[in-house]
Amino acid sequence: ITLNIRDFCADLMDELQLIDNAQHQFVLSDRLTQSHEVFLDERLLRIILSNLLSNAIKYSKEGKEIELEISRDEQGICFQVKDGGIGIPEADRKHLFQMFHRAQNVGEISGTGLGLAIVKRAVDLHKGEISLESQEGVGTIFRVRLPLNEQ
Ligand code: ATP
Ligand code: MG
Repeated sequence: ITLNIRDFCADLMDELQLIDNAQHQFVLSDRLTQSHEVFLDERLLRIILSNLLSNAIKYSKEGKEIELEISRDEQGICFQVKDGGIGIPEADRKHLFQMFHRAQNVGEISGTGLGLAIVKRAVDLHKGEISLESQEGVGTIFRVRLPLNEQ
């Protein structure tokens, strides 16, 4: 089954924006040029993006921008989720994808520490890659690349 990636991302951003109750600014940056119909599992993609986006929302103050950028390269389709939130301390980064790990700077923000472990499984099932860039007090970018199986 093919998935229209552009529509899927727009719908997901709309849904999250509704739930967020206008506390953040949602920006969808679409850098796709050609076909947006891709062979990807919709449920897995939803797991990946909704977890990353809900973290971006949860770990940034109201009024901040939440950006989802979609692009393509030779290796596949790339998703970038960027926030202007609390950031992730260096020491926590290598443990982030382990179950129940929460960074030392979460303070009062609640969570179970499962979201990113689930994201990692979903990315691995897609034979994709995930990486992050972060600066404490400035924000975080998660990047996911999923290989595409064009038929
Ligand atoms: P939940 O299981 O409800 O998602 P959680 O958000 O605490 O709980 P994860 O989504 O697995 O768990 O994230 C693990 C930890 O990584 C978080 O507790 C937080 O410390 C850190 N983290 C993840 N995303 C961000 C982000 N965008 N900005 C700052 N810290 C983040
Ligand atoms: Mg989470």
